[in-house]
Amino acid sequence: MTTHKKLIAGNWKMNGSLAANEALVTALRQGLAANAPACDIALCAPAPYFAQLQSLLVGSPMALGAQDISAQAQGAFTGEQSAAMLKDFGVRYAIVGHSERRQYHGETDDAVAAKTAAALANGITPIVCVGETLAQREAGQTEEVVKRQLAAVIHVNGHCISEIVVAYEPVWAIGTGKTATPEQAQAVHAVLRAQLHHAASEHAAGIKILYGGSMNAANAAELLAQADIDGGLIGGASLKAPDFLQIISAAAR
Ligand code: PEP
Repeated sequence: MTTHKKLIAGNWKMNGSLAANEALVTALRQGLAANAPACDIALCAPAPYFAQLQSLLVGSPMALGAQDISAQAQGAFTGEQSAAMLKDFGVRYAIVGHSERRQYHGETDDAVAAKTAAALANGITPIVCVGETLAQREAGQTEEVVKRQLAAVIHVNGHCISEIVVAYEPVWAIGTGKTATPEQAQAVHAVLRAQLHHAASEHAAGIKILYGGSMNAANAAELLAQADIDGGLIGGASLKAPDFLQIISAAAR
């Protein structure tokens, strides 16, 4: 059982607008003012809105996060954003290796490890995503897949592995409304914890392992009650203030 504060991170994906972001953050701030959170909170937003969100989040308990980060420091890498650029806008977290980036942008385990290194070198906390597809689960490969994905990150970042956050996100549960049962999720989290323990021994218990995949206001409490689930990475439900606030409350218990 881990004892540190949980982390609830919203992944807005490619959603939002100036008006919608302002309405959402205002509603979240109001909800949190009434009920101070007992967990850490991050909003991982699309990069064009970082300046807006940096000012909307001043004085709030919510930290700004990115959804990706370049492995490169600067130069001819069209379309990419470096860690230093993210830091200019007060970004504190970066999702790395989300399954949508692995699937649609061909991100390999090695690329994910390099992005993790770039984040860590710049004081940004990487939220490293791992997870199996439905076909891999049905073929009994879940453990092998998530261990391979995490091993690549540990291999490159072993010296500061205690600074990462891991997110177990079964691909078949993302945006599908199908959530892993608390038992299924806990079983994989325990595997990841053991792997981290091997890499970081005494620090492993302090490394947050989030669950992501159709977490919502109704199922959050049960998932977050599992021994090795230290928070959530939330897509769809993070765009609805009442739902996200309920998940934040569930993380405080
Ligand atoms: C995600 O995109 O990381 C995610 C977990 O999405 P959803 O909550 O919508 O399944």
